[in-house]
Amino acid sequence: MNQDHLPGAPHLARRGADLWLDGVRLADLAAEFGTPLYVYSRNAMRDAATAYQRALAGRPHLLCYAMKANSSLAVLKTFADLGLGFDIVSAGELARVLAAGGDAAKVVFSGVGKRPDEMRLALQAGVHCFNVESPAELDTLSAVATGLGKTAAISLRVNPDVDAQTHPYISTGLKGNKFGVAHDAARAVYRRAATLPGIRVVGIDCHIGSQITTIAPYLNALDRLLDLVEQVEADGIPIAHIDMGGGLGITYTDEVPPAADLLVAQVRARIDARGHGHRTLLMEPGRSLVGNAGVLLTEALVLKPGAEKNFCIVDAAMNDLARPAMYQAWMGIVPCHLRADAPTTWDVVGPVCESGDWLGRDRALAVQPGDVLAVLSAGAYGMAMASNYNTRPRAAEVLVDNGRALLIRRRETVADLFRDELLPD
Ligand SMILES: *Cc1c(COP(=O)(O)O)cnc(C)c1O
Repeated sequence: MNQDHLPGAPHLARRGADLWLDGVRLADLAAEFGTPLYVYSRNAMRDAATAYQRALAGRPHLLCYAMKANSSLAVLKTFADLGLGFDIVSAGELARVLAAGGDAAKVVFSGVGKRPDEMRLALQAGVHCFNVESPAELDTLSAVATGLGKTAAISLRVNPDVDAQTHPYISTGLKGNKFGVAHDAARAVYRRAATLPGIRVVGIDCHIGSQITTIAPYLNALDRLLDLVEQVEADGIPIAHIDMGGGLGITYTDEVPPAADLLVAQVRARIDARGHGHRTLLMEPGRSLVGNAGVLLTEALVLKPGAEKNFCIVDAAMNDLARPAMYQAWMGIVPCHLRADAPTTWDVVGPVCESGDWLGRDRALAVQPGDVLAVLSAGAYGMAMASNYNTRPRAAEVLVDNGRALLIRRRETVADLFRDELLPD
């Protein structure tokens, strides 16, 4: 039988009845490592990063992987080895970057609520820049930096008030969002920042949302940023870099997001056309570097045909993969080994005691208990959002590197889950 590639996942292929990822049969991994199991193609991650790098080549740039999408150390090392920096949102993420061999000088520290101790750790590590989200944060950072005898390089996260046309929970660049400094207020905040001890203005940034599938919102945001850069520099405050954030979407079903190269080319062209070509361009992609690289393998436990709905209960649940429960996200679900039987329509659900615990609704599948299913495009916001709800140990993770399967995270044990708990008298 010929090879059949699945949407959005160039490294995933159906050969005969079996699903393969980069030379490894996924059903074999489920048998060897158990389920639920996250599996990632290292080459898919490399290809996604090099698409951005190719498009950024020849101009000053810094590509920072927004690691909250998938913060496993092996994933971070994969990107650090390619020379990427990291966009972090906590001191915990900074510790992960350092543990994986990443370079603190290529780290930007984002987030709407940084604690003083986190600022201190980031200053001591020597991060590239703090993406500051409020005037109050500037004051705290100024005090922390002067207390350490250091200077904090800062960029203001500006809320450009553009509609990224995505899910409300992952839209971050509109006026009503908690993120960033309002566009109207930003010029005054820059003026103040320039007078504060321990603060050095280096850039401007925005991040307008996630799973964005068109280029126009980026160009709208960029225009708004460049307008501000011109005003701020007229005030005598130089802006060395422009950070466009992340947010580029991936294919879950029939979305056709622009290729990273195309997005970067259009951003570059607009920056150059407006005479800002000398500035360093930063980008903070998360999902688009890892999302299509991963699958979640899960075993069908019980079939419950019913009058209104047929339920296929699997051993992965909302604690393993929160996206469907949290964002009503549609994710592809396919068998790792195709059966010849006619498909039936199933709701694929987990064992957790919540009606919101589903992975896919109304899916045509030929499935029997014991079969292994693959949830597709699960590399981003999958394992990183996993919890222990229902005292369920988190899944193991495997990285496939050119036909070799490497265990990169052992399955959590039940003992791990209450290791830190104390019994009262
Ligand atoms: C989440 C986030 C990103 C990455 O978003 P993706 O949609 O995963 O690309 C980038 N920058 C900031 C500030 C973020 O919060």
